[in-house]
Amino acid sequence: MTKKTSLLIGYTLLAFECYRKFAVLCCRSKLVKFRHSHARNNPDMFTLSIQKEIAAAHRLRNYDGPCARIHGHNWKIRVEVCAEKLDHAGIAIDFSDIETLLWQIIGPFDHQNFNDIAPFDKINPTAENISRFVYQKMKQLLPDGILIKNVQLWETDTYRVTYEE
Ligand SMILES: [Zn+2]
Repeated sequence: MTKKTSLLIGYTLLAFECYRKFAVLCCRSKLVKFRHSHARNNPDMFTLSIQKEIAAAHRLRNYDGPCARIHGHNWKIRVEVCAEKLDHAGIAIDFSDIETLLWQIIGPFDHQNFNDIAPFDKINPTAENISRFVYQKMKQLLPDGILIKNVQLWETDTYRVTYEE
């Protein structure tokens, strides 16, 4: 074997070894990413959602546009909650229980002006602020083992805000 040939073989082996190490590293990072996403999307997690609608007026403060004048919307509010465990009947939480809690929060605003009722007599009744208010109230009211995931609020059929923490 000439010196040139053995050098060539040496470099080829070195290149192959580098490639192998690189492939192992890539594979490991893919595995870590997969495990991370798998943990986040736990297959044993149930998500339940319910939706209610109210008709209510609002008027935006510190806002230059048509919404600065009093006007109304049919607000659609969807709450998503999640749970890991089911009871003996195979239920995480009764849909009607979530509905009752949501209505406890938004019912007082139905056919009212948001600006007249706390906390929106002080906080601007924007879709963003209303969705955060509903989220935080739901979080306090839900029973143990049921977690709030997000609140989606439609101001119109095409304008929607999602709030989550
Ligand atoms: Zn509006």
